[in-house]
Amino acid sequence: MFTPKNQTAVCLIIPALLILAGCATTKTETVIDSAKDANKPIPVVAQSTGTGVGGGPLPKRSLNDFKKSNVNAPCYDRKNEPFTPVVDSHFHPRPFGGKAITPPELYRFFDEAGVRFVNYYGIGQVLELKSECTYYLDCPGVNAEPSVKNDFVNGMEVTAYKHENLNIVLSMTFMDISKRDDILKTIKMYDKEFPGMFKWAGELNVVKAALTKNGHTYVTPENIAKWAPFMKVLRERNIPVTLHSDLGNDANPTLYLPLMQKVLATYPNNKIVWAHMGLSKELTKMNPDLHVSIMKKILDQYPNLYLDISWDVLYESYRDFGPIFIKFFNENPDRILPGTDFVAAGHKEYKTYANELDLTSRVLKYVNDDAFRQIALGENYFKLLGLDYQAPQVCPSAAN
Ligand SMILES: [Zn+2]
Repeated sequence: MFTPKNQTAVCLIIPALLILAGCATTKTETVIDSAKDANKPIPVVAQSTGTGVGGGPLPKRSLNDFKKSNVNAPCYDRKNEPFTPVVDSHFHPRPFGGKAITPPELYRFFDEAGVRFVNYYGIGQVLELKSECTYYLDCPGVNAEPSVKNDFVNGMEVTAYKHENLNIVLSMTFMDISKRDDILKTIKMYDKEFPGMFKWAGELNVVKAALTKNGHTYVTPENIAKWAPFMKVLRERNIPVTLHSDLGNDANPTLYLPLMQKVLATYPNNKIVWAHMGLSKELTKMNPDLHVSIMKKILDQYPNLYLDISWDVLYESYRDFGPIFIKFFNENPDRILPGTDFVAAGHKEYKTYANELDLTSRVLKYVNDDAFRQIALGENYFKLLGLDYQAPQVCPSAAN
């Protein structure tokens, strides 16, 4: 995401970034970064190119390496260890409909990519089962509504398939925040069926224009006022909630901004993650300076707001403006979360996940060490959830 198509041009335009980016990239990186290869699957991602024991690649870091108690964790060598994050905070282990990738296969994906922390979101819009549809855009007219179905399967699978090298956080995605007001009742049911297991909420759809042909109705200011009881529970339990809320569309880039402002003004003490920084397939031509200035203002106003940079749509649409976003991330390093927004439909292979992880995190190759540590190495994520993990320090040599 956001890494300019032509890296040489960036190096010429912004000498300071040249230092940060280490523009003398390896051959592999150069190939990956060229515009014509941007859409090709990356054969190997998250593999260290450094030299480890016996002259091979550096071993990937284990979950244990991130434990707070592990005081001897080595510093992170950005030159030789992956630029891709150890956290995927926006991941959907099941598709909108149809078969999903099996848990052992998914775990292999994470292992291969060096991802040790994952949020398991349900899908905010499960297609009607009888439709046998697997993707909502292929099935206009078929209703897609939030449901407990995915959450339950996720809860069962995470219990049945353990993985000692992976920390999975379950998220409640059943909440239909535009229609129902029985959310508290269902949380109580989860408490009984999955005690203490769900530590996140979302992603929930406030406005998702892409879903209008599948029965999605936008949240209204009246709806937002009715969220108070369940938002209180989330606050008390320190549960962050991820909201998908389109900022606007190409015709009017800030059309829906007032709705998100209403949410934030009503619940300033809730930890809220704004998915995709409000961007979407319907908003791909916004002036990036305007976008960043809106984000900056709202982050300053609401200290409990975070932005997730998931979804390759962001990379595809805004990579020409990399320096603007790199500067923004460097200036707000403690408010950004990485993620892929991968949807684990059964037919997908590892290379698709690797490619999405690569695209959504390319910008992280260029941020400064402080931002890299907080975003890619998980510090923001650990703090947000109060986890017993910490990001390693970045090796000083990486900044030289
Ligand atoms: Zn998503």
